[in-house]
Amino acid sequence: MGKKQLVEWILEHQSGYEELARQIWERPETAYEESFASGLLGSVLEREGFRVRREIGGIPTAFVAEYGTGGPILGILGEYDALPGLSQKVSAVREPVTPDGPGHGCGHHLLGTAGVEAAVALKHRLDAEGLAGTIRYYGCPAEEVLSGKTFMAREGVFDDLAAALTWHPGSQNTPWSTPTSALTSVELHFRGRAAHAGGAPHLGRSALDAVELTNIGANYLREHVPDGSRIHYTITNGGVAPNIVPDAASVWYYLRGADRDAADALLARLLKIARGAALMTETEVSWDIKGGAYSLIVNHTLNALLTGQQHEAQPPVFSQEEQEFAASLAATLETSQREAALDKARKLGLAPGELLPAAFSEQTPAGGAASGGSTDLGDVSWITPVGQIITTCAPVGIQVHTWQATAAFGSSIGLKGMHYAARLIALAAYELLTDGGAVLTQAREEFRESTRGRRYAPAIPAEVRAPVPVYAGRRESG
Ligand SMILES: [Zn+2]
Ligand SMILES: [Zn+2]
Repeated sequence: MGKKQLVEWILEHQSGYEELARQIWERPETAYEESFASGLLGSVLEREGFRVRREIGGIPTAFVAEYGTGGPILGILGEYDALPGLSQKVSAVREPVTPDGPGHGCGHHLLGTAGVEAAVALKHRLDAEGLAGTIRYYGCPAEEVLSGKTFMAREGVFDDLAAALTWHPGSQNTPWSTPTSALTSVELHFRGRAAHAGGAPHLGRSALDAVELTNIGANYLREHVPDGSRIHYTITNGGVAPNIVPDAASVWYYLRGADRDAADALLARLLKIARGAALMTETEVSWDIKGGAYSLIVNHTLNALLTGQQHEAQPPVFSQEEQEFAASLAATLETSQREAALDKARKLGLAPGELLPAAFSEQTPAGGAASGGSTDLGDVSWITPVGQIITTCAPVGIQVHTWQATAAFGSSIGLKGMHYAARLIALAAYELLTDGGAVLTQAREEFRESTRGRRYAPAIPAEVRAPVPVYAGRRESG
């Protein structure tokens, strides 16, 4: 009975949440600058009677909002940051809203809003039925730079959760069943001595030489690391002009491994290479750790709980017009990608010409058992059991972080996937609150097995603060 009312409440109120998602999509903000989105979502929850705590982990755009009393405390995780350069209209031709501007190519405007929609729907059930338990929404910034949740976790805000539920926009309805890599983000800085590169090169000590030798060393390292490791870099400072021996140069690395230990081991080896490069070039090296995400632990119990709600949640029905828009987006893909998309759509049992799966299916990752990517959700998954699903918000074959994804996520396709996710999460949380603890016990047992008693410790050093723009001003003002 309660479940039926939960779904009805969401169906009745969905236009308000569409408006929220649309506003955030229209005002994309990148990592740590999401003041509009976090302000909007936080104020909606505050108006609904949630107790809102802002500026979590020293981040002005991070917040926690809770409703209810006592246990279990259930977390619903939301994100809202956009990606640089992915501005795009809801159109099947490349047409930025703002040239070179940011856009929601990962659909986080949907991700953040669905969680609020589910949390408020649950609040009404708590009130109506006098249920014990606390619903806590986490406004998590800066997922795209893989560190928002790490800074939040350092403040302990996830520690008392019984479990957390979340989702991600994608191109099928599926449990998120693949682990992600642990990651260390580190920037190396070399200091040398400037000199006239033509007139007195013997007096110079090139910091850029040290960067290049580090990269050569790292490229030799690749052969001798465990399978699944990833090493990638960009030179963030290569000096200013060819005729000046660069006295300062920097290179920014992402190091990924199967788990936290593997990523830490890669860092230790890269730092040896960097010290060697400094020795060779008579320069000095220092580094700063910018991020350190954990691998993601999949909780199959919670994922099954979420997917188990699929029929009660009422799967989305996509219109002919939406199918046509999906097909026109897929038509922009390069031939082999488009063929792969059509093949996948056939395997998912879609009718010819259709690219929007409404039914649930198993996750079909791009390749391999583990994802080469990383997410700061990994940190939360080492603190509490996390259930995560993906829903159809874009056509099969459209990858996140592309302009086509910005278009699909900004369309009614994305909004339908968002409401479906909200209903699935709300129903799953409701079951956790009303089943006498059976599923939570099982989920926590699985969590204990997966973590094997290892305790989470944030991988970002204690002295490193979140790189929020506001800090710069604060330091200047004393
Ligand atoms: Zn993303
Ligand atoms: Zn994302």
